[in-house]
Amino acid sequence: MKIVYDDIMRESYDNTPAGAPGRLDSALQVLRESPGYEFVGARAATEEELLRAHTQDHIDSMKHESDVYHGGRLYRVAIVAAGGAIRTAEIAYAGEPVFGLIRPPGHHASRASCWGFCYFNNMAVALLSLQSKGLIRSALVLDFDLHVGDGTINILGDREEFFIYNPHGRGDDEYLSVVKQVLDRAPSVDIIAASAGFDEYIGCWGHNLSTDAFRRIGRLVYEFAVEKCEGRRFGILEGGYNHEDLGINIRAFCEGLQGY
Ligand SMILES: [Zn+2]
Repeated sequence: MKIVYDDIMRESYDNTPAGAPGRLDSALQVLRESPGYEFVGARAATEEELLRAHTQDHIDSMKHESDVYHGGRLYRVAIVAAGGAIRTAEIAYAGEPVFGLIRPPGHHASRASCWGFCYFNNMAVALLSLQSKGLIRSALVLDFDLHVGDGTINILGDREEFFIYNPHGRGDDEYLSVVKQVLDRAPSVDIIAASAGFDEYIGCWGHNLSTDAFRRIGRLVYEFAVEKCEGRRFGILEGGYNHEDLGINIRAFCEGLQGY
């Protein structure tokens, strides 16, 4: 399956845990060493694409913050992450499972503000891009990050054609049964997208899920896609701060996304 990635996201761009040096290294190593993963590049999102999810003021203030505190680098990385999410969604729309290995994360970025290591809402930018091209009408977002994706809810939550779920549960089995219940009850849509945070991991801030739980979540997304949206499915990286195990956890989710 395809992994959308650009080297600009490898180096640190800010002082948050999401922007820490080396955070993507294990993911790059594991996915490059495992058979069946093909890396494809990302491009920067245009301002027009960002404006579907954000106000002009928000975009301008991100540029300003980036120029003043990060030598312009933060903005350059953030727009490639958003553009990478668009590319990920386009590949998924064409019917292939795909994962966007991108940072900074996006699910705490609202229309006119942001926090939690996020700047632009990659997921909202990607889904609104597909929608604006007339490719999809509806979408389901499964956000399995430890934290609720308040930015995604802020941007997409009041639109009836978007369904956003942030499951919770203690331990693999309870968590997985909640995800299964949610997806079983969810309506058919045009695409399913996972805001894939790995901070629920037993070895990360949530002290909760095993590596195999991420495979099982991916598998449930796969099953939903096959049954309810013509196989269209993707994930993009949100949180996840155990650098060493981020690679095996992402690979586990990708395996599930392919139906394993
Ligand atoms: Zn998180």
